[in-house]
Amino acid sequence: VTVIGLDDTDSRERGMCTTYVAQQVARAINGAGGDVRRLLLVRLNPAVEFKTRGNAAIAVHADVDAEMAFRLAHGTMVDLAETDDPATDPGLVVADEEPDSVPDRVAAFARDAVDDHHEVADAVDLATECGYRAEGWKAGRGQVGALAAVGAWRAFGGADGDWTFEFVAYREADNRGTDREFDRESVFAAADHAYPKVFDTVDRAAGEAVCFPNTPGPVLFGVRGDDPRAVVEVADRFETEPVESSTLFVTNQGTDAHLVDADLTDVADGRSYRVTGQVVDRPRTREGGHVFCTVGPEVDPPHENGSTPPTDHEASALDVAAFEPTKGFRDAVRSLRPGDRVTVCGEATDGTLKLEKFAVRDLVRSELATPTCPSCGRSMESAGRDQGYRCRDCETSAPGKVSRSIERDLEVGWHEVPPRARRHIAKPLVRGGFDGAIHPAR
Ligand code: ZN
Repeated sequence: VTVIGLDDTDSRERGMCTTYVAQQVARAINGAGGDVRRLLLVRLNPAVEFKTRGNAAIAVHADVDAEMAFRLAHGTMVDLAETDDPATDPGLVVADEEPDSVPDRVAAFARDAVDDHHEVADAVDLATECGYRAEGWKAGRGQVGALAAVGAWRAFGGADGDWTFEFVAYREADNRGTDREFDRESVFAAADHAYPKVFDTVDRAAGEAVCFPNTPGPVLFGVRGDDPRAVVEVADRFETEPVESSTLFVTNQGTDAHLVDADLTDVADGRSYRVTGQVVDRPRTREGGHVFCTVGPEVDPPHENGSTPPTDHEASALDVAAFEPTKGFRDAVRSLRPGDRVTVCGEATDGTLKLEKFAVRDLVRSELATPTCPSCGRSMESAGRDQGYRCRDCETSAPGKVSRSIERDLEVGWHEVPPRARRHIAKPLVRGGFDGAIHPAR
C-alpha cells in the first residue's frame, strides 16, 4: 500500500483546487490498474500564515507500488497543479506504508500541522529520514501539508477516528468561471431531507446554499455529513448544471481537531483554543457590526470567611469577537453580561479570539441595585459612606444595596456561528458529543 500526500495546489488566480488534482491522481492510478482505497481530505491549522484557501491537503491511499504512485502523481501535478502561480507552492510526498502504521513522528507531525506550525525544512528532513519520495515546487511549502496528509489517518485514530464525509462534484471545464447553475428549491429540500446526518449544506437563516462555493475553481458543490451514503443521496437530489465528475472524501472537517484546550494565560496568536473564563465587561458592537467582549479568569467563589480571593484580570483578559458575517450568532454574544461563566472556542489572531462557538456555563441572574422606597417607589439615595440608603421625603431607609433578579434571554449551553460562517474544521453542534445543551444553528 502506498500513501500519496499532496498539498498547496490551489490557485486563486486560475481556480484549480487540491481536491480536483487528488481526484485526477486517483483516476490515473485506477487507469494504471491500481486500486484506490480512500481519499482523505485533511484540513490543516486554519490559523497558519501561508494558508491557501481552506488550507487543505489530501492523502490518496492506494494499492499500487510507490514508484508508480510517484510517477502518476508527479505527472498529474505537473499537468494540473498551478505550479506557475506565484501564490502556490505545491508539494508531493509518497510513502511506501500502510496508512495505519506510519511512524510515530509522522503521526505527530500531522497532529501539529492541524493545531500548530511547521517549517518546510522539517518536513523535508522527516520525509527523507522515513525514506519517502518528496518533491516540492518553488519554495516547497506544500511538502508540509503533503507529509501531514500522509500521517493524518494514523494521527486521528484510523478507522476508529472521528471522520466525516464530503461528496464533491466538479464542473465541466467549459462552465468553470461562470455562475454555478442549480435549482435552489431542490437543494434546500434535499438538505432538509437528510439533516442532521448531512449538515452545513445550506444556511436556512440566511437563505444561502453554502454547499455551492463562490470561488472560481472547478468545484460545483460539496455535501458534508456523518454518513457516506446520505451525502451521496443528497447530492443525487440536487438539480444542477452538468457534473463532470465526483468524488467521496473522508475528512477531518467538522471535528474541531484544531482546538487546543488551554488556560487564558496560554493563548497565543496562530493557534485555535477552547478556553473557559468569566465575562469581564459588557459586549460592545463596533463599526461594521462586529461584536467584541472580554473574558477573564474565573473568579473563585468567596472563601468561607467571606473574603474574595485576589484575581489579576488585566494579566490574562482575552478579547473575543463575533464578526458581522456570523449574523444571528452575534445576538447570543451581545446577550452576555459581566460575571457569566463561558467556554469560548476559536482562532487567536492579533490577541483576539475569533469565536466559532461558545458555551454558557452559568448565567448571572441577579445584581445588586440601589433599593427603591417602599412608600413612593422612587430610587433611594445614599445616606453617606456605609450609612445605607434613605428616602428623604418618606423618611424610609434601607441598610444597603438589594439583590434584584435579571431577566436573561440567553440559554445555557453551546451556541455556534451559522453554516455560512463555519470554518471547514469546526464541529457543528448538531454532530453531538458536547458537554452541555446544544443550540445548533442550521
Ligand atoms: Zn419615598
